[in-house]
Amino acid sequence: MNSEQIKNSLNISPAIRVGVLGFGGLGQAAAKVVAGKQEMILVAAADQKGYAYATEGLNTEKSVAAYQAQGSVGYLEPIGTLTNQSIQDLIEIAEVDGYFLALPNLPNDFIPNVAKEFIKSGWRGVLVDAIKRTTAVEQLLAMKEELQAAGITYMTGCGATPGLLTAAAALAAQSYAEIHQVEITFGVGIANWEAYRATVREDIGHMPGYTVEAARAMTDAEVEALLDKTNGVLTLTNMEHADDVMLEVAGIVGRDRVTVGGVVDTRNPKKPLSTNVKVTGRTFEGKISTHTFTLGDETSMAANVCGPAFGYLKAGRQLHQRGIYGIFTAAEIMPQFVK
Ligand code: NAD
Repeated sequence: MNSEQIKNSLNISPAIRVGVLGFGGLGQAAAKVVAGKQEMILVAAADQKGYAYATEGLNTEKSVAAYQAQGSVGYLEPIGTLTNQSIQDLIEIAEVDGYFLALPNLPNDFIPNVAKEFIKSGWRGVLVDAIKRTTAVEQLLAMKEELQAAGITYMTGCGATPGLLTAAAALAAQSYAEIHQVEITFGVGIANWEAYRATVREDIGHMPGYTVEAARAMTDAEVEALLDKTNGVLTLTNMEHADDVMLEVAGIVGRDRVTVGGVVDTRNPKKPLSTNVKVTGRTFEGKISTHTFTLGDETSMAANVCGPAFGYLKAGRQLHQRGIYGIFTAAEIMPQFVK
């Protein structure tokens, strides 16, 4: 029996066939997360230079090794393929129930354009992103009817923030009759910035004097020079983060009451501060109070992004199987725990 058959024999329903688009820091972590699951099997992975696809499942260690040694999963023998249109190729040939888009959103409409490719192709299934910017989520929300007509269930903003923390805010809001403030503060510690180039570039785009376009255009040497000046630390305040639009669309609080900021240390895996969300509101008795949800300091960014992403993929799959298509945010749907 191959690994898919073994997984299928253990479950009443067959394992969900997942693909990961983008095989950098988060994409590789996503593959490792799926490797420990019975309910999901990783059948496809793609990066800028190629893809690997196998119906019986990819070997995570070998896929990561091929990417790290040669720069693409397309080098994975014997199933890898080198191409500069890996996403389009996979859409055409691969049988996948749901994809996690671990892609850079540079420029700011990159992931919305990938979603358009899926719509155009006639592919049906679940798409999940961990996109960060408000304006990017707005572009996707505007595609609701096209996604519905295409038979795609799209789960947006399903990483850590937005994602896990936005969902926690939606849950915390239930104690209150009126929500006054949602304040998200994140701490990220990574050993070296090269492991998460897109994440770091997108964060630089939030700094005063920078834009998404400016950050995208920076060479690696320029990013390093900037990080040298700040001792590897990026301090971010009042970020344009989609937690605001997601909580507004879910009817919980106006976007002007939601703030997001954080500190990213690119030279130390230890978190510079504990990631938390504080939700302040008034109860029906007139009491003002604050709920605080704090993530464990030992949990990495990768754990807090990839876990929820697959939890939402499973939830999206259930919606899809019931014929419910369109677009949903992490603030509207409860993620399902993946066994
Ligand atoms: P990365 O730079 O490490 O990797 C990006 C990957 O995408 C690479 O493998 C690259 O080859 C691939 N890629 C680029 N263009 C491609 C194309 N046209 N076709 C196929 N593959 C392509 O990125 P990362 O640091 O892992 O970040 C991925 C995304 O996750 C970013 O958009 C980031 O903002 C997001 N993120 C979200 C959260 C959250 O909490 N919501 C947290 C961290 C990161």
